[in-house]
Amino acid sequence: MLLEITTTHPPATDLGYLLHKNPAKCQTFDGSFGKVHVFYPEATTDRCTVAMLLDVDPVDMVRGRAGARSGGLMDQYVNDRPYVASSFLSVAIAQVFGTALQGRCKDRPDLAATPIPLEATICVLPCRGGEEFLRRLFEPLGYAVTARGTELDETFPQWGPSPYFTVTLAQTTTLAQLLTHLYVLVPVLDNGKHYYVGDAEVEKLLAKGGDWLSGHPERETIVRRYLKYRPSLARDALTRLAEEDQLPGIEAQEADEAEPPAADPAEEFVSLNEQRLGAVLAALRASGAKRVLDLGCGEGNLIRELLKDRQFEQIVGLDVSIRSLEIATDRLRLDRLPAHQKDRVKLLHGSLMYRDKRLEGFDAAAVVEVIEHLDPPRLAAFERVLFQCARPGAIVLTTVNRDYNALFESLPAGAFRHKDHRFEWTRSEFQAWAQAVAGRFGYSVRFLPIGPEDPKLGPPTQMGVFARE
Ligand code: SAH
Repeated sequence: MLLEITTTHPPATDLGYLLHKNPAKCQTFDGSFGKVHVFYPEATTDRCTVAMLLDVDPVDMVRGRAGARSGGLMDQYVNDRPYVASSFLSVAIAQVFGTALQGRCKDRPDLAATPIPLEATICVLPCRGGEEFLRRLFEPLGYAVTARGTELDETFPQWGPSPYFTVTLAQTTTLAQLLTHLYVLVPVLDNGKHYYVGDAEVEKLLAKGGDWLSGHPERETIVRRYLKYRPSLARDALTRLAEEDQLPGIEAQEADEAEPPAADPAEEFVSLNEQRLGAVLAALRASGAKRVLDLGCGEGNLIRELLKDRQFEQIVGLDVSIRSLEIATDRLRLDRLPAHQKDRVKLLHGSLMYRDKRLEGFDAAAVVEVIEHLDPPRLAAFERVLFQCARPGAIVLTTVNRDYNALFESLPAGAFRHKDHRFEWTRSEFQAWAQAVAGRFGYSVRFLPIGPEDPKLGPPTQMGVFARE
């Protein structure tokens, strides 16, 4: 897979400053999927071209990589991944041209902000949806698009064209803008495996696409494909884009809930949210709780499920973010619920750092993907608020399993899954914390995995179920 970017803006070799890569050098970077080579086939004051060659290791992709586990052995080893532009290209752009992608340049700050003539050539780009879709993506953004298709097999012309193209995109724009468009739209065109699709991807999509995406005529397809047809994630992103653009709400998207999820190996990651909800619900049901708390309820995903089950007679959600509570009110249509339902649910604004009488006297509390958002020095306060003051009969608490992060292809080593995470615990760190807290406050605790378990690294999410003794 080869990406070339050319400029003719004199002195063209300043492209090296913009990319923080010396035109005189050939450099190689280790990516999680193989090697990324960066070099300049041409570097004169009139014309300068940088090339990024992705050398994806198909065997390494399979070995120990959760994303490649399903789909059969044949599909694991014989596929187009090493040869085509895919989400790996986006990962490589972010890793190797990260500063340029953000539009920053210490040595030539003005140039980074200046539109210059740029031409990107991608060989080979899979266009699921054909040349027409390729044009619908890039032409509204102002690119002159050239696409050269390939026949599936020259000896068998009757097999027709392949979905693979060599594509050139030309425009006078900033380098950051060009890289951003490639970052978001190449995986959309490929529509293949994504190795990490989760809440953090919504943030990335909005961070990288916010301004131009909100006005793009294909934005709904872009968002859906980027988020792999996950209606819940896609709806989040579309709602937020609509807010930016002052467009009408996304109520109409509800119909898409019925859209079947893509049959894709990445599916196992994609459905993690749902698996987590299911596991938490099961634990709450098993505790026999009637009055339940959802602490750090966010936008109300768990509350929606709790409402469907008559076992839960009273449901109280609490969150520190007023914005999230507003979205939850909206999504759950709390204003429009019939009286008998409305009486069952209440949303409270508050913080888990402070003792709150309103949280006392409940049978159970769920604390789903919240603890990793708390500052470590404040954990002791949280522990007292929950285990000593609120003191529900059962506590179902989930958090990220950091051990598993190594399996997320596009997550750089050591990075957190979400920018707002203050820490991420390994299984032994979580279990040590949970056992100590249980011991201190008179609870027992058991641990359950959530999501597909890796034999060595465990599940993506870990859950502790505490019972008051
Ligand atoms: N439980 C939800 C949301 C998880 S995101 C779900 O699984 O979908 C974490 C949530 O914790 C956010 O909504 C955030 O606003 C909330 N949060 C962070 N710190 C908090 C605090 N000190 N008190 C209450 N909520 C907090």
